Amino acid sequence: MAKKFKGPAIGIDLGTTYSCVAVWQSQNNRAEIIHNEQGNRTTPSFVAFTDDQRLIGDAAKIQAASNPTNTVFDAKRLIGRKYSDSVIQNDILLWPFKVVAGTDDKPEIIVKYKGAEKRFCAEEISSMVLTKMREIAEKFLELPVKNAVVTVPAYFNDSQRKATKDAGAIAGLNVMRIINEPTAAALAYGLQKRADHVGKRNVFIFDLGGGTFDVSLLTLINDNFIVKATAGDTHLGGEDFDNRMVSYLVKEFKKKNKVDISGNPKALRRLRTACERAKRTLSFVTEALIDIDAIYEGIDFYLLVTRAKFEQLNMDFFEKCLETVKSCFSDAKMDKRSIDDVVLVGGSSRIPKVQQLLQEFFEGKDLYSSINPDEAVAYGAAVQAALLSEGVNYKNVPNLVLQDVTPLSLGMKIRGDVMDVVIPRNTSIPVKKTIEYITIEDDQSSVEILVYEGERMIASENNLLGLFDMPVRRAPRGLPIQVCFTIDADGILYVSAEEETSGNKKVITITNEKGRLSREEIERMTKEAEHFKSEDMKHVKKVRAVNALDDYLYDMKKVMKDKSVASKLSLVDILMISSAMIKGKELIDGKEKNDTFVFVDCLREIKSTFQSAFNKF
Ligand code: AMP
Repeated sequence: MAKKFKGPAIGIDLGTTYSCVAVWQSQNNRAEIIHNEQGNRTTPSFVAFTDDQRLIGDAAKIQAASNPTNTVFDAKRLIGRKYSDSVIQNDILLWPFKVVAGTDDKPEIIVKYKGAEKRFCAEEISSMVLTKMREIAEKFLELPVKNAVVTVPAYFNDSQRKATKDAGAIAGLNVMRIINEPTAAALAYGLQKRADHVGKRNVFIFDLGGGTFDVSLLTLINDNFIVKATAGDTHLGGEDFDNRMVSYLVKEFKKKNKVDISGNPKALRRLRTACERAKRTLSFVTEALIDIDAIYEGIDFYLLVTRAKFEQLNMDFFEKCLETVKSCFSDAKMDKRSIDDVVLVGGSSRIPKVQQLLQEFFEGKDLYSSINPDEAVAYGAAVQAALLSEGVNYKNVPNLVLQDVTPLSLGMKIRGDVMDVVIPRNTSIPVKKTIEYITIEDDQSSVEILVYEGERMIASENNLLGLFDMPVRRAPRGLPIQVCFTIDADGILYVSAEEETSGNKKVITITNEKGRLSREEIERMTKEAEHFKSEDMKHVKKVRAVNALDDYLYDMKKVMKDKSVASKLSLVDILMISSAMIKGKELIDGKEKNDTFVFVDCLREIKSTFQSAFNKF
């Protein structure tokens, strides 16, 4: 039974462009989205610094055009990443605020605040947004709030998750749990459906927000939410569509007026705001006007953008989304026809072209549109917060049970640099799996446990998460060692090894801070894994052939040592067996030089030599 927390608890969807906060309301039997002081149900994830104050949310966004270099947004794109990350390097070109490399290559944002230069890391900016969301909730509840569930994209790696948790701590929040955005949206959907449906439903969550894209495939069995597979891109969303429009319009402006506004942060900020507005309009009508007075050197910006142009500018992004959808289905080994509902989440899921492509993929199926795409994540987070809380306000929360998945395969390096997968990617967590390995040398005094994550069959091509040596009882090879992989509900991996006869046991905790992979690395490695599949397979086949020969030679050596057996063999047979065994040993010693079939042939030859000798008695 999970620990329950006391006091008010809120759910926060900390978005790239907008954030949203919700709280469970026991009197209404539902979660409530809380509006901010402007009456808006979502709040821009913007923080601005001026000569006399700090502004967060709507107030920061409104003044962005007049104070572009000191108005910070997109902190979610920076969080948990290195400055040298190519993703950050590309983003920097478009941001009006300054980002530099800090200690350990951590990005730092430089702004002017109250007349002095100040540096902030992404966690600090996100903590300011979280503080704002907390204040919005406190005003509504008329109570201080400490406990929160914060959502992250499903494909956030653990350093991004941890940095988000740190941002919560800096904001003075007790982050009870970090949950995945599509899973939170599924909770919101499930609660709504619960009233009229009992039994099993397969649900596909399509979450395209401001900066990130996530898909998840879930099976809901009554109140159990089982994530089957997840996929995504932590750097794809509405911001990218805005950027494409901005670049296009900068070029058009240059063509028409012979001036380049790309180096002017103020003009760019005004253009970006206009583009975002036009993009939203284009979701409902087929044309939108960009009309900005005196954008640069007194020249007005006046241009009509069509929906068709917007779609053409972003078609590759939309197609990329579809590719991710397909890979999620192939991972889950599920047929798209088995899906009961396709749920749209995230503001950018309103884009008609995106909906059209998705509908075509699902062979004309109606998309589920009864949940608010901007609010579903915060709603689900509030439900999860309520489930983790105790007290009179949380008595009637439906007892929903969530089961998430691990996004990457986890395993051990075994003989011949082979990756032995213990927990395949997209396995439900929490999970515990024990595998028996054996020692490979006689009189081995210890075994080295090397834990990797990744999709390559060659272990050393994957990401090393941790390693340790465990002493074992000296014995002939083949001594069993139990290795156990455990992943808890927060995604933390523990690996233990035990040798039962001596009672030796060792455990390590892999907290993921030691460098689990970023989304880009995961994508690169998954692609590489595909690319290298046949080469890896060749390696694995050879290792298997060498090992099979080695094991056979080892067993036969033991047999030949047994005098009662050897005495029954003729001298000729003994000589033939010895020379076959020597040949086998020589092949193994020079294994790099030989191909797989050489080992397979040699094993066949030795086996037949043995069999013909032993058949005689
Ligand atoms: P979220 O991260 O879910 O809050 O999504 C915010 C993103 O959705 C921003 O990039 C918005 O510009 C975008 N967005 C909101 N409404 C619309 C709309 N009607 N059409 C297209 N994009 C939208």
